[in-house]
Amino acid sequence: TYPIDVESIRQDFPILSRKVGGDVTVAGESENDTEPLVYLDNGATSQTPTQVVDAIVDYYYGYNANVHRGIHQLSQEASVAYEEAHDRVAAFINANGREEIVFTKNTTEAMNLVAYAWGLEALGPGDSVVATEMEHHASLVTWQQICKRTGAEIRYIQIDDEGRLDMDHAAELIDDSTRMVSAVHVSNTLGTVNPVGDLCDLAHEHDAFAFIDGAQAVPTRPVDVKAIDADFYAFSGHKMLGPTGIGVLYGKEEILEAMNPYLYGGEMIRSVTYEDSTWEDLPWKFEAGTPVIEQGIALHAAIDYLDDIGMENVQKHEELLAEYAYDELSAYDDVTIYGPPGDDRGGLVAFNVDGVHAHDLSSILNDYAVAIRAGDHCTQPLHDKLGAPASARASFYIYNTTDEIDRLVEAVDAARQLFA
Ligand code: PMP
Repeated sequence: TYPIDVESIRQDFPILSRKVGGDVTVAGESENDTEPLVYLDNGATSQTPTQVVDAIVDYYYGYNANVHRGIHQLSQEASVAYEEAHDRVAAFINANGREEIVFTKNTTEAMNLVAYAWGLEALGPGDSVVATEMEHHASLVTWQQICKRTGAEIRYIQIDDEGRLDMDHAAELIDDSTRMVSAVHVSNTLGTVNPVGDLCDLAHEHDAFAFIDGAQAVPTRPVDVKAIDADFYAFSGHKMLGPTGIGVLYGKEEILEAMNPYLYGGEMIRSVTYEDSTWEDLPWKFEAGTPVIEQGIALHAAIDYLDDIGMENVQKHEELLAEYAYDELSAYDDVTIYGPPGDDRGGLVAFNVDGVHAHDLSSILNDYAVAIRAGDHCTQPLHDKLGAPASARASFYIYNTTDEIDRLVEAVDAARQLFA
């Protein structure tokens, strides 16, 4: 039995009852689609329930308008809904309020916002940024390049054989030269759940900031930014039942207040003359131009949906599925699974089958209607370290079942035999 009502949840996701397997010509179902879809690529993006789609439809059919500057009723309604979406996100991650919640395009943009608005100005020769060896390219490439431009040094906390952070190494690397510690909360490749609170403490002992990448964490477990004491925390709506095109940057109010804007333009100013300009209050100072109105409203609906289930329950379900998949796949000697043991990881399993390239594996799985990801999952340096150019990754969410994992394992077994 599951900690959540998976059967009733599945009813809210029309896409889960479609079949696949036909010729890919146009988007949508083709006549030759015969196999029920097994969707195990949630780490890349999650599916969308009717409640979230309804929120989008209600907005476009009922009160579609630009926000903040309109006096007319529709604009006021859209503004209220858009601003309340910030409040909803704040409550969900235990931020103080909307001042600390900036809507961006995605996690990647949230990283870049801080790297450009804070990093380019604050960093220089003699400073260091400490990241981890398991960073997603969103943070790794961003800090690497900002360090190149500013002359700061980038250091990486190493991982042990089980794919956990070496916290002794972290304590060595984080020193008085450190201005920023940037760490992923749940690794999208290893499934490792990092002790991000401890990393924030280490950063603060040296007067550095900490930026936590929560792209895989916020969708799958309760997150309390105050308990973690993160200075910045980022995640994406599309991995938590929301639409694409929205991400969240949380930042402590006094830090955001002290930062200069990242993008300039309309909606983020208070007053403008030909000579100079002043900025709007937080968070609007960081939301230049027409913002992600529809996406913000839809994210609100997605959070309501997740909160109804309860994030503790979501986490339990993720852990149950991850452990089941880990146990089933590790029954094969020729399957290598990356990251910590099955009972201590987030809801994903990345693996390789000896002698089968991850892309071939993924394509055979596709023949079995099982959708997974193959590649480096935006962690190329980590894959280099693991000695694998690529891996296959199955990632789970609230609507997945152990039966679906059985289908995955059956398909993996078929691939093993085909290449044996
Ligand atoms: N960090 C992690 C850990 C991720 O898994 C992802 C998405 N794969 C990102 C950052 C980037 O998210 P986005 O593509 O939505 O910006």
